[in-house]
Amino acid sequence: MRANLLDFDIEGLAAFCAGLGEKPFRATQLFRWIHQRGEADFSAMTDLAKSLRDKLAVSAHVAAPSVLSQHASVDGTIKWLFDVGGGDAVEAVFIPETDRGTLCISSQAGCAVGCRFCSTGHQGFSRNLSTAEIVSQLWFAEHFLRKHLGRSTRVISNVVMMGMGEPLQNYAALVPALRVMLSDHGYGLSRRRVTVSTSGVVPMIERLAADCPVALAVSLHAPDDHLRSQLVPLNLKYPVAELLSACERYLAHAPRDFITLEYCMLDGVNDSVEQARQLVDVLARYGDGKSWCKLNLIPFNPFPASGLLCSPPQRVQAFAQVLTEAGLTTTIRKTRGQDIDAACGQLAGDVMDRTRVQERMSGQRPVKFVRGAPALAGAAL
Ligand code: SF4
Repeated sequence: MRANLLDFDIEGLAAFCAGLGEKPFRATQLFRWIHQRGEADFSAMTDLAKSLRDKLAVSAHVAAPSVLSQHASVDGTIKWLFDVGGGDAVEAVFIPETDRGTLCISSQAGCAVGCRFCSTGHQGFSRNLSTAEIVSQLWFAEHFLRKHLGRSTRVISNVVMMGMGEPLQNYAALVPALRVMLSDHGYGLSRRRVTVSTSGVVPMIERLAADCPVALAVSLHAPDDHLRSQLVPLNLKYPVAELLSACERYLAHAPRDFITLEYCMLDGVNDSVEQARQLVDVLARYGDGKSWCKLNLIPFNPFPASGLLCSPPQRVQAFAQVLTEAGLTTTIRKTRGQDIDAACGQLAGDVMDRTRVQERMSGQRPVKFVRGAPALAGAAL
């Protein structure tokens, strides 16, 4: 079987080239052709020896998933649906802004965490993506955009692992993919501009700090364990205090001096002024009195199966005001690509439900969030 060279970080490619009897610098050349120039055809890699190109032609290929669809929003956001085989598809979304181009990419087909406000979570888990399938989203988008915009320089300046899936539950494929993004011979992105977003897989936060510390975003969504366990079932395994302690430890390795805490604003569930005050109190227990986190309030994108609604704007503002007045840097996320369903939690709506999670969860609706009542059992932990 031919090796897919998109599966390798530069060390992996050097090892592969060594297996072909080639020196490490050949791997660097090859890596630059693939990632910096977007070339998949070995015969076009003219500064590689003909003997190496011939060996590569029989032993390797550069294979990205095919694009099933592409949708462009009036605001410039572009969403691609990639076919990863077996009826599974994953999405990547490009979000252009004046000072940056951000690509949001997926790490799994489906997701096992089963967050209540996330349409991916409602579809169940199918499988982990390979490193090649993660990297391919960036490889394709970067070189597509360069061609499309007539640019020879980098278009994508930031990558956020906030698409489908929990990246830290696909750790073995994630880390080489991050290394490709960070490599000067690859995309040359700074660690500050690559963000892993997690629902709170505490042991893997520790490992990421040691192996490949990039910017970290944590889905918090509630100030207490009782409510968070209902919204993010993984909280039953890794409760708020453990998670925030892990964040605090991560700061010593993080490329930024803060962790982003994501908070999805759900009408009548987690959006009261009292809950904002509770959140301020909880966060003050960490960081030794220093500012250590930034809050990102995300207006919820309702979908019928969730049984949830987005908080009204004035309630979001009131929540933000409590946080800001307490000295917490707080932003309210702008929703982008609404006309193409590219917003958070709306990715890959056509992906098949392979684990029947939706069926199992439907018996638990309508979801009632009662303070003091026992937490609902979660999806697979
Ligand atoms: S929010 Fe993230 S972790 Fe939670 S179900 Fe959705 S994709 Fe999975």
